[in-house]
Amino acid sequence: MSHQASRPQLDAVVERVKEIGLRPEVSLGEDRAVIGVIGGNAYAYREAFSHLPGIQEILQITKPFKLASREFQPRNTVVHVAGVAIGGDEVVMMAGPCSVEDELMLLETARFVAAQGARILRGGAFKPRTSPYSFQGLGEKGLQMLSAARDETGLGVVSEVVAPADVEMVARHVDMLQVGTRNMQNYALLQEVGRSGKPILLKRGMSSTVEEWLLAAEYILSQGNRDVVLCERGIRTFETSTRFTLDLNSVPLVRELSHLPVVVDPSQGTGRWSLVRPMSLAAVAAGAQGLIVEVHPQPDQALSDGAQSLDFETFERLMRELRRLLEATVSQPV
Ligand code: PEP
Ligand code: MN
Repeated sequence: MSHQASRPQLDAVVERVKEIGLRPEVSLGEDRAVIGVIGGNAYAYREAFSHLPGIQEILQITKPFKLASREFQPRNTVVHVAGVAIGGDEVVMMAGPCSVEDELMLLETARFVAAQGARILRGGAFKPRTSPYSFQGLGEKGLQMLSAARDETGLGVVSEVVAPADVEMVARHVDMLQVGTRNMQNYALLQEVGRSGKPILLKRGMSSTVEEWLLAAEYILSQGNRDVVLCERGIRTFETSTRFTLDLNSVPLVRELSHLPVVVDPSQGTGRWSLVRPMSLAAVAAGAQGLIVEVHPQPDQALSDGAQSLDFETFERLMRELRRLLEATVSQPV
């Protein structure tokens, strides 16, 4: 309360806290009173309380996300995707083209990344493109190609879903559903994937704070789906020399705040293929439990994101250097 607050103003706040079913804890100081508000959903009433006279400041003490928090669950969540454990001892590589373009390029890429040690095949069939005139993806045909590549290589498959109405259909073809950066705050989609029964790869919104990202995860978790993997993919900043600013601070931070596995997408995060390898290594050094990397047999001919896609040679070098790094790492951070 403000130091000018009157006793009736203090009592009115205490009464209001009780009315909504929360517990007030008043501590009277030398020149002001502090009212602790205890109860599950206190966060939701924050804004309404700001209208009561005599209040100086409302401070949030506990995190607004519950199911996603380490306080709720201290031990790490391990998410199983087609038999691959994400969040366990191994750093999991997910790799493949930005978009599924045709069966041949997909199979060629899948075979190569599998031979190099990738465990999950990525490939977009529904592409949320900035321009409506850009290649939008092959849709369900693309998902069928991903399924065929899974059958041939044994890789798990992750692909993006962009519309709530498509969730059931996409879920029939893939082992993990990706929610993209542009949809991180599409709450209808988050709830629908929460009911899908599939593991979810939740990209960070390009303009979202870590707290908003964890609240997006909370939407999925609160539908009963506990298999959420968080993916840092870069945020918008004033810097224009790279496509996004890959916020690697968020990796150890989110691992402190949450029990959910965290992976990094250095392809979207940098927008430049030459930066993908060094930033992959940096991400793993920072505690990322997996990477999702765009790989294309001929990046100069890719229908989307060619500039940030690795060719086979660079991907092979990345996998080699990752192995060296992991051997050198005595213990994973966190
Ligand atoms: C992608 O993975 O190709 C993609 C579009 O990701 P994001 O949503 O992070 O931009
Ligand atoms: Mn892409």
